[in-house]
Amino acid sequence: TTVQSWERRELGSFFHTFSDLASLREDGPAIVEKGDGAYIFDTAGKRYFEGNSGLWNMTLGFSETRLAEVAARQYAQFPGYHTFFGRNSKPTIALAERMLELAPVPMSRVFFTNSGSDANESVIKLLWMMWAAEGQPRRRKLLTRKNAYHGATVMASALTGKDYVRAFGLPNAEIVTLDCPHSWRFALPGESDEDYSARLAARLEQQIVAEGPETIAGMFAEPVMGAGGVIVPPDGYFRMIQPVLQRYGIPLVADEVICGFGRTGHLWGAQAVGLRPDIIVASKSMSAGYFPMGAVMLSADMDKRATAACELWEEFPHGYTTGGHPVGCAISLEAIRIITEEGILDNIRKVGPVFQAGLRTLAEHPMVGEARGLGLMGALEMVADKKTKTAYAGEYRVGDRIAKAARDLGFIIRPLGASVVLAPPFIATLDQIGQLLDVLKRILDDVHADVNR
Ligand code: PLP
Repeated sequence: TTVQSWERRELGSFFHTFSDLASLREDGPAIVEKGDGAYIFDTAGKRYFEGNSGLWNMTLGFSETRLAEVAARQYAQFPGYHTFFGRNSKPTIALAERMLELAPVPMSRVFFTNSGSDANESVIKLLWMMWAAEGQPRRRKLLTRKNAYHGATVMASALTGKDYVRAFGLPNAEIVTLDCPHSWRFALPGESDEDYSARLAARLEQQIVAEGPETIAGMFAEPVMGAGGVIVPPDGYFRMIQPVLQRYGIPLVADEVICGFGRTGHLWGAQAVGLRPDIIVASKSMSAGYFPMGAVMLSADMDKRATAACELWEEFPHGYTTGGHPVGCAISLEAIRIITEEGILDNIRKVGPVFQAGLRTLAEHPMVGEARGLGLMGALEMVADKKTKTAYAGEYRVGDRIAKAARDLGFIIRPLGASVVLAPPFIATLDQIGQLLDVLKRILDDVHADVNR
C-alpha cells in the first residue's frame, strides 16, 4: 500500500462545507497543521499570515498558551457537565457574570450555546415562545437585512438569505428582508449618511406597516455586517431605525458574533454603531476560537417576559448538551480577560486605524471601488468602472484571483465575489499590517494588469 498524502486523504473522506468545489478540484485542499501567533503553517511548512483570523474567530492567534493552560486546568478539575435540570458549574456562572458586567447596555441574564447559529436559533424560539405566551401568537415574522449572515441552522440560515432558502427549500414565509444599509452602493447621489439613514428608517416603517406590526417577532442585525462584505452602516442608522422598532414593540437582536469582544475597536459592535440591543448574541472571539461557544444575553425586559413565558411550560424547553461547557467557559473567561485586561483592546485601537487608513489609501487604486471597514475588519470591493461602480463580470473572479495571489505570497484573505474581506487577529502588529497592505497593493497592480490585458 502506498502512503497517501493528507490532501488525498482529505479528498477521499471529507464532505466539504462552504468550499468551492471547482477550486477544490483544481487546487486541492489546504491542510494546516500548526500555528504561531498570527501565522499558520501548511503541511509543506509554508507560513501564512491569517488575515481573516480563521473565520473571524482566532482573534488571539494560534499559540496562546494561557488558553491552553486554563483548558488543561479545567479539564483536570472538572472536565465537562451540562446546565440542565437546575445544575450548573462554577466557570459557567463566572462567565455569565463577567459578560453581564461587560455588556454594552444593562443586560440581565445569559445562557450559553455552542455556536453563533444555535444562539440565533435559540433567540428565535425564545421570541416565538414569548409572544405566544403574551397572547400574540401571530408575532412570528423575523426582520433581517439583505447580505446578513446569521448562521447555518434552519431558521438562522433562512435569516441569512435567499440563496440558502432556495438551495435547501428553507421555511421563509416568516422572513422579511430589509435593505442592506450600504451608503456607497445604495445611497442616492449627494445623499448624506443622515438622510440615507432617515430614508432607510422610513422604509423600515413602511415594511412593518405593510406586513402588519402584530405579525412581527423581532429584528436581527449585525452591528457591522461581516460575511456580507463588512458593511458599516451609515451614521445615524441604528439611532433612526430603533425608535421605529420601539414604536411597534419589536425587539432588536444584535448579532455580535463577529463584532463582539473587540473586532471593531470597541468591546461591542453595538457601541461602535450606537445600537441599544434588547438581546445580544455572541460567539467566535468569546473563546478566541479555542472552544465552540455561543451566548445569548437578555435585557431585563426580555428576561422578565421570557421568564413569564417559561412559567407556562414550567421551564425553558430548550438547551444544548454542551452549552455552557465548563471548559469552554473557563477558556472564554481567560480570552475575555486577555482581551480586556492584557492590552489586546488597546492593540486593536492602535493597529486598527492604521489598517483602515491603509485600506483607504488602496481605494485610490484604479480597480478599487470602495475600501471600507472599522477596527480590524475591512473589505475592498473591486469595480470594472469606478465612476459607474459597475462590478466586474463574474467570470473575472477578481476576488478569487486576489485571494489566490495573496495565498501564494503567504497571506490568507477571503474572496467574496468581486471583493476581498480582511479580519486580522487582534494580536496583529503594525509591521504585520504594513506587510499585508503592501502585498495587497502589489497584487491589485498585478490583477488589474491581468484583467485589462
Ligand atoms: N452570526 C454571524 C454574524 C456570523 O458571522 C456567523 C458565522 O460566521 C454566525 C452568526 C454563525 O456562527 P457559527 O458559524 O458559529 O454557527
